[in-house]
Amino acid sequence: MKNDISRTLFEVAEQHIPGGVNSPVRAFKQVGGTPIFMKRADGAYIFDEDDNQYIDYINSWGPMILGHNHAHVVEAVQAQVKRAFSFGTPTALEVAMAKLIKSMVPNIDMVRMVNSGTEACMSAVRVARGFTGKSKIIKFEGHYHGHADLFLKKAGSGVATLNIKQEGGIPTAVTDDTLIVPFNDPAALEQMVAQYKNELAAIIVEPVAGNMGCVLPQDGFLQLLRKLCTDNNIVLIFDEVMTGFRLSRGGAQELYNVWADLVTFGKVIGGGLPVGAFGGRKDMMSCVAPLGNVYQAGTLSGNPLAMTAGLATLSELNNSPKAYEALNAKGVYLREKMHEVFTRKGIAHTINQLGSMISVHFCEDAVVDFQTASKGNNDTFKKFFHHLLDNGIYLPPSAFESWFLSIALSDGDMNKTIAACESFTA
Ligand SMILES: *Cc1c(COP(=O)(O)O)cnc(C)c1O
Repeated sequence: MKNDISRTLFEVAEQHIPGGVNSPVRAFKQVGGTPIFMKRADGAYIFDEDDNQYIDYINSWGPMILGHNHAHVVEAVQAQVKRAFSFGTPTALEVAMAKLIKSMVPNIDMVRMVNSGTEACMSAVRVARGFTGKSKIIKFEGHYHGHADLFLKKAGSGVATLNIKQEGGIPTAVTDDTLIVPFNDPAALEQMVAQYKNELAAIIVEPVAGNMGCVLPQDGFLQLLRKLCTDNNIVLIFDEVMTGFRLSRGGAQELYNVWADLVTFGKVIGGGLPVGAFGGRKDMMSCVAPLGNVYQAGTLSGNPLAMTAGLATLSELNNSPKAYEALNAKGVYLREKMHEVFTRKGIAHTINQLGSMISVHFCEDAVVDFQTASKGNNDTFKKFFHHLLDNGIYLPPSAFESWFLSIALSDGDMNKTIAACESFTA
C-alpha cells in the first residue's frame, strides 16, 4: 500500500507537534511504522491522504457508533452551523440533551455537560470528594479515566501502550490519595476498602474495561462494588465514557443491572464532536456550582454544535431498539469466526468481546485484568496489525485497546476482515 503522503506529513508533523500526534494513542510506537493521516470517511470506511480505503475498527475510539457521516447527524449539524456556533448562554439544546440522557439512563437525576471524558471523570471525583468530605479514591489497575493528575497511576490506554512507569509532571501529593486495586480481584478490593473506608470518597471503575483491551467484569464483581460503596458511605462512579450508549441505551449499568451513584460519559455522547458529561444522584449533583460549592465550569460546555451532533446520534440510537442487538451480533460473529481461524492456524489467542467492543490478545490464558492483558505477544500483534492494514483494515495501533464496531459495518466488511486473518502468518 502506498503511504507516501502520510509519511511526508508525519515528517513535517514531528517538527511541530510532540511525536507528530495530538494524542499519544495515534502514534504507531507499539506497532512500528508511521501513522496514517486520514482525510475523509464514509459509513464504515476511512480514506487516507494517499486515497487508500480502510474498514474502520476504531471509529474515532468509539464516538462514530452509527458509522461516519450518518445522514441525520450531518443534516442536523449543517442546520446548526447556519444558526450559531456558540453563545456562552444557556440554550434549549442543552435542556433537550439533559432530558434525552435521563430518559436513556434512568438513574441520572441531573447531568452537567463538559468537553471531554477527562473533564467528566475529574469533575465526578471532585463531586464525590465534596459530597463525602473524604479524599481518597480507589481506581483499578489498567483502567483509564482520562489524563487528569489523580488518574495517572497504573493507567491503561496510551500509558500502558508506551509502557510509562513513572508519569512525569505529577506531584506525588496528588496521587497519594489514589489507591490501586487489580480489576476482578474481590479479596484485594475488600481488603483495601476495609483498611481505608473512613477516608474513601469514591471508587471509580470502567464497568467493562476498554483501555487494556476489552476486559469484562467477572460474575458478582460489580455487585460487590455496589455493596461495599453503599455499606461504607463511598460514592460509586461508573466511568461509562467508552461503554455509555455503546453497550446498550443505559450502558453497562443497564446490561449488568448495577447502578452507580455518579456516571461519566464521553465518546458516543458527542457523536464525533468534543463532548463529555457527568451526572447521577440529585443530592450529589446538587453540590455542583452554582447550586453548591463544588466548582466546575467550561466556556464551551454544552456547545450548540456539539450538542446537536450528540443529540442526533443519541436520538438515532434511542429510536432504533434493534441497534444494540445488531451491534452485538456483529461482535459475536467476528469473535467466533476469528477464533475458528486462529485455532485452525494454531495461533495462540484469547478474544474478549461484549456487544460492539472486542479485542484480540495473542496469548493462551484468559485476559481478566491488567497482568493477564500484558501477557499478549506484542510481536505477533505488530505483524497482525500491519497485515490487516495492508489489507485495508484499520485496527487500533495497540494491543491494549478495544476495537469499536459501528452499525455501518457490513457482513462483507467482516468477511473481508476474517479473510485477512486467514492469510495472516504469525
Ligand atoms: C476515552 C476515555 C476517557 C477520556 O476521555 P477523553 O475524551 O479522551 O478525555 C475516560 N474514560 C474512559 C473509560 C475512556 O475510554
